[in-house]
Amino acid sequence: MYQKRKKIKHRTKAKALFITRPQLKKILIDMFSIWIRSRYADEQGLVKCFTCGQIDYWEEMDCGHYERSNNYGTKWDEENCQVQCERCNIFLSGYYERFAENLQIKYGNNILQKLKIKSQNKSKIYNFELETLIKVYYEKCQTRFHVPRVEEKVRAVVKQYVRAGGVLGKGAVSLQ
Ligand SMILES: [Zn+2]
Repeated sequence: MYQKRKKIKHRTKAKALFITRPQLKKILIDMFSIWIRSRYADEQGLVKCFTCGQIDYWEEMDCGHYERSNNYGTKWDEENCQVQCERCNIFLSGYYERFAENLQIKYGNNILQKLKIKSQNKSKIYNFELETLIKVYYEKCQTRFHVPRVEEKVRAVVKQYVRAGGVLGKGAVSLQ
């Protein structure tokens, strides 16, 4: 395992042909955010804010985190992250009280404890895991292509990814 990691590091350094870690994170954040904001959107692209119930177009909404987004254990967690309007996410700093209530309604009483434990997981996330998550959310987003502008936004993210040296497989090639 150690040897394998060392080898990858060396190759990256020598040729710089591989996508960098910050680039991978940025792509994953963008792809995941499209998924969270569009997953419950209707065919007009409208979606309800998880905390206040306001309905707006998915692109106008934010990807809100219950446990803070700098915790890798829950940064890309589909329960921890919910669609929120800008007012709740930014101006009400997440509207945590209501976020907690609605998480419990949606996922059961243990959810807050579960997310807390997950968020405290300090283990490093490897680049290959970031790559895997990009693929996972790329595939999930494809199930939302009937929602206005989702396909277009996903294409733009994939384009950045491929330009930076990322590889998604055959599905991605057809998107370019
Ligand atoms: Zn709201």
